[in-house]
Amino acid sequence: MEYFDVIIVGAGPAGMWCAEKLSDTNLSVLLLEKNNEPGNKICAGGITRKGILMLDIPDEIVEQKVNNFVLHSRHFKHAKEWPVPITYTVNRLEFGNWQLQRLKNTDIQYRNNARVTAIKENQIIINGREAIGFKYLVGADGPVSIVRKHLKLPVEKVLATVQYYIPLETVEPKMELFLDHKYFHSWYVWLFPHKNRIAVGACSNAKWLSGKKLKNNFHRWLKEKGIDVSNAEYQSFPISYDYRGLKFNNTFLVGEAAGMASGFTGEGIYQSLVSGEVVSNIIKGEPYEELLAEILQYNDYQHKFLELLQKIGPLRGLAHDLIILLLRNSFVNKRITEGFS
Ligand SMILES: Cc1cc2nc3c(=O)[nH]c(=O)nc-3n(C[C@H](O)[C@H](O)[C@H](O)COP(=O)(O)OP(=O)(O)OC[C@H]3O[C@@H](n4cnc5c(N)ncnc54)[C@H](O)[C@@H]3O)c2cc1C
Repeated sequence: MEYFDVIIVGAGPAGMWCAEKLSDTNLSVLLLEKNNEPGNKICAGGITRKGILMLDIPDEIVEQKVNNFVLHSRHFKHAKEWPVPITYTVNRLEFGNWQLQRLKNTDIQYRNNARVTAIKENQIIINGREAIGFKYLVGADGPVSIVRKHLKLPVEKVLATVQYYIPLETVEPKMELFLDHKYFHSWYVWLFPHKNRIAVGACSNAKWLSGKKLKNNFHRWLKEKGIDVSNAEYQSFPISYDYRGLKFNNTFLVGEAAGMASGFTGEGIYQSLVSGEVVSNIIKGEPYEELLAEILQYNDYQHKFLELLQKIGPLRGLAHDLIILLLRNSFVNKRITEGFS
């Protein structure tokens, strides 16, 4: 039986970054991906400023650098042009292949079409037949994680999503968010510009707004805004924000397998990268506490915001309007922006 010091299950942003961060050690590392290519993930493809700073993403895989941001409530809007891009958008497939390319000159072993189908003590089974042993196992396999299941950790905090990619000839580099309590409870609609298409989508926790209602309301909202999705690609996939820790003896969880996404914005790429780095540091015996505290605080800030919107009930619409008005104050604007980007 083959044996590796570290087996990472899943070549998403979390798994690949964790692998890259382990590539400067003498540890033997195997990265497994069930699909033929990495990065084939349903996503709006927005990477916020902190993520941009972490990765030196070359221009050729950036679809849009977004300086213009517009936030809408039902009655008001706040538009701001930033001197530097606040978000980049990427095609997840290209982003995935770029991340994988970075591993090419390292000793990390990568296998595609390698689905982990079972986990036993200190060994995994690939595609139902091949056993490989490990010292450390890293679950980087997204919101529907076999590694998390093996740890018997439930996933209770989940967002349902609906999204369309609408093809367009020209796309303005402008990101828009629509807070609309009538249709989306405490959540909102995003509109992210890409090269020749825009991603428009929404999310909600089914406890407050069921997936079915979200979908219906989203279609009503699209109609109200005159947004035509007849030629668009429909997508839906859960987002997990049920964080219960990263380390469980010799098994680790990173990214959405660990529930590291934001339950408010649905952002998860940045948190996936950071958690991947945290776990690589734990395995290497290097300090990780500060990095972990920083990312937990980032999510905590957003979850407190979400909780507040959930608690205030019918006042939610007023709160949305108030947020827009408060953003006109530069101090408040800075505080809120820092908490979300
Ligand atoms: C509609 C939607 C829009 C989103 N928009 C954004 C956005 O704009 N910005 C943002 O930051 N986040 C966004 N997210 C969230 C973001 O996509 C995820 O948080 C992020 O991709 C998580 O990264 P990850 O590496 O943890 O997992 P993933 O990207 O899900 O990668 C997991 C990998 O593991 C592989 N895998 C799974 N099971 C197995 C197995 N058994 N064996 C082997 N391999 C396996 C999968 O094929 C996949 O490649 C969005 C999510 C959705 C659903």
